[in-house]
Amino acid sequence: MKNNDLMSAQNSQTSSNLFHYEQQVSQAQEVKENIIPISHDARHQFLLASNAAYAKQSKQLVAKLKQIDLATAEILYQALKGQEISVEQATYLFKAEQGEYQALLETADLVRQQRCGDVASFVITRNINFTNVCYMGCRFCNFAKSKEEEGAEFLSFDEIANRAEEAWLKGATEVCIQGGLHPDIDKDYYKNLVLAVKARVPDIHIHAFSPFEIWYGAKKARMTPQAFLTELKEAGLGSMPGTAAEILDVEVRKQLTKNKLTTEDWVTIIKAAHEVGVKTTSTIMYGHVDQPHHWAAHLGLLRDIQKETGGITEFVPLGFIHYETKLYNDNPDLVRPGPTRLEHFKMHAVARLMLQGHIDNIQASWVKMGPETATQMLQAGANDLGGTLMNESISRAAGAKHGQEVVPEMMVDNIHKAGLSAVRRGTLYQTLEKYDSPDQVIKTHIPRASEQIDLMGVM
Ligand code: SF4
Repeated sequence: MKNNDLMSAQNSQTSSNLFHYEQQVSQAQEVKENIIPISHDARHQFLLASNAAYAKQSKQLVAKLKQIDLATAEILYQALKGQEISVEQATYLFKAEQGEYQALLETADLVRQQRCGDVASFVITRNINFTNVCYMGCRFCNFAKSKEEEGAEFLSFDEIANRAEEAWLKGATEVCIQGGLHPDIDKDYYKNLVLAVKARVPDIHIHAFSPFEIWYGAKKARMTPQAFLTELKEAGLGSMPGTAAEILDVEVRKQLTKNKLTTEDWVTIIKAAHEVGVKTTSTIMYGHVDQPHHWAAHLGLLRDIQKETGGITEFVPLGFIHYETKLYNDNPDLVRPGPTRLEHFKMHAVARLMLQGHIDNIQASWVKMGPETATQMLQAGANDLGGTLMNESISRAAGAKHGQEVVPEMMVDNIHKAGLSAVRRGTLYQTLEKYDSPDQVIKTHIPRASEQIDLMGVM
């Protein structure tokens, strides 16, 4: 349905819904001043009845919904009740401005509270980008180099294991390992890499290999993605990043990557991982040649996958970093220089509403947005600040200003600044430790992630 049709259809329906809704509100006010039965959703009702702060926020939001565009109010009301919103409705929300925009963020914040409570999390992890050699030529990437180029690197298994061990000794529970599609990678490379890390640090969680790398490795090994991933799992792979998703749309992908890894390939590999028991994350890269309807369709596709497999642990919006990329520099008039600040907020908020009940962990990436803005996302739908990282090369290669490390104390402090309780989690969102104050990180003997970045010897 086009937006205009959607709006007029909703306007007529909305008037009656809001009429009944207002009736409900006034009846409820007669019963009890602080409890407004705006929803039949059990979770929402429970929170209203048991949590005074939540009831107050709901009441304020209700007042705002009555003052904004009816179509937006109806969609937000629907989301607040825990009902699914459509791709067309999500597209409509992405266009919200001013009062509608504020109401969107507040609704996302309340739904975050319904789904996750007043807690936000982070994970102590180290990124290991084992090679920057790659010939795929993705136009948004400035990380890839040719083999002969200055600065090209291809770490030995020993060096990768050293870095994983260093991370473990500094308190990391996870290593996130990704790299370019190096031509010298042979059919057993990815398996042997996992075995090398596990041999050195048996208990660390290996979160590794994008769907592009799995596609490449499976082709080299002449195996199905299922068989290839089964081998990796047996070797010790714990989970997979759902990166390389960019925007799951053929036309957009043609411009970004010449559609080398197609949407179908990405979906097939993610589902194959879930089928063999390897959980994945999910991502979007936005703010280049894409439009709000692509974002909404992308979220809709992720939701469909999740309904089918249940294997996605989180959704991570990743804003496009344009500075050093061919995509932007070749066409600065046609390609946007990354998302605006408002778009960052909208993306986290709409994702929260669209994915609720299916993917309930929405991560804010401090690498892309900076720690301060990422922290602000915790009041607009996000409930996780991601990893401490220790080293991150990919975003920095594209010109990102952030992206080395946020130590655990800072993570805890930032979460507290957002008014939430802080939790250190495992990769699969297991609660590992709760913190009342930033200092507690040290008291509980988690080693500091890093005092000195150069220690790691990468950048
Ligand atoms: S994004 Fe990944 S696959 Fe594409 S060129 Fe860069 S390193 Fe290669």
